[in-house]
Amino acid sequence: MIEKEQHVLVIFPHPDDEAFGVSGTIASYINQGTPLTYACLTLGEMGRNLGKPTFATRESLPEIRRKELNKAAEAMGIDDLRMMGLRDKTLEFEDDTQMKNMVRDLVEELNPSLVISFYPGYAVHPDHEATARAVVRALREIDENKRPKFHAVAFANDTEENLGKPDVVHDIRSVQEQKLNAMRAHISQTARMLEMLEEGIKAKDPEALKWVTNERFYTYDWQNDHVQ
Ligand SMILES: [Zn+2]
Repeated sequence: MIEKEQHVLVIFPHPDDEAFGVSGTIASYINQGTPLTYACLTLGEMGRNLGKPTFATRESLPEIRRKELNKAAEAMGIDDLRMMGLRDKTLEFEDDTQMKNMVRDLVEELNPSLVISFYPGYAVHPDHEATARAVVRALREIDENKRPKFHAVAFANDTEENLGKPDVVHDIRSVQEQKLNAMRAHISQTARMLEMLEEGIKAKDPEALKWVTNERFYTYDWQNDHVQ
C-alpha cells in the first residue's frame, strides 16, 4: 500500500521519463483518489528516436510527443498535466533561478505533500540533473517542518554503492496494465524497449517482471545535500 498524500507533484524534463520508473506509482495515487499534478518541462523534441520505422521528422516530433504524453497521462488517469514549454536538451543552460522559481511556483500553487523527481547526482542525463537541482533548490527554501517529502528516482550505476537500497518501494502489480499502457503511449521512444520487455514478461524473466512489480525511490537526504 502506498501512503496517503494530500497532493502529489511529479516533475520530469521529458515525456516518457515518468513511464518506466514512476507510472505505476502515479496510477496508484490517482486510483486512490489523491490529487496529482505532472509537470513535464519539455516536449522531448530533440529525442533521438524518430520512430522505427521512421515516422517522425524533427519538425513533427514535438507534436507527436505532445500527443503521446497526453495519451500516457490518460492511461495513468492524470487530469492535471502541465506542459511547461522549456526546450529539450537545453535545461542545463537555463537560468538556475528561473528553473528554481518555476518549481517554487508549482509548489506554492499546489501545496503538495509529496514531490517526485530525479535524485541530483544520480539522474544520468544533463536535463535530468538540471531538473533535480531545481527541485532541491526550490524545496530547501521551505521551512523543514512545512517542506513536502521528496521521493527521488536514481538510476546511475553507482546509485546503490552510494545511496544504499531505495527506502521507498511501491508494489505496482495491481496497476500493471495501466503502466504498460503508459509505456505504450510513448511509442516513438519506447518501441524497442517495450518489445523486449513484453517478451520478457511473457517468458516470466525476473529482470522484465521487475518493471511491472515495483517502483523504487529514495527519500532525499537533506543532511547530505550537495547541490550548489
Ligand atoms: Zn529524460
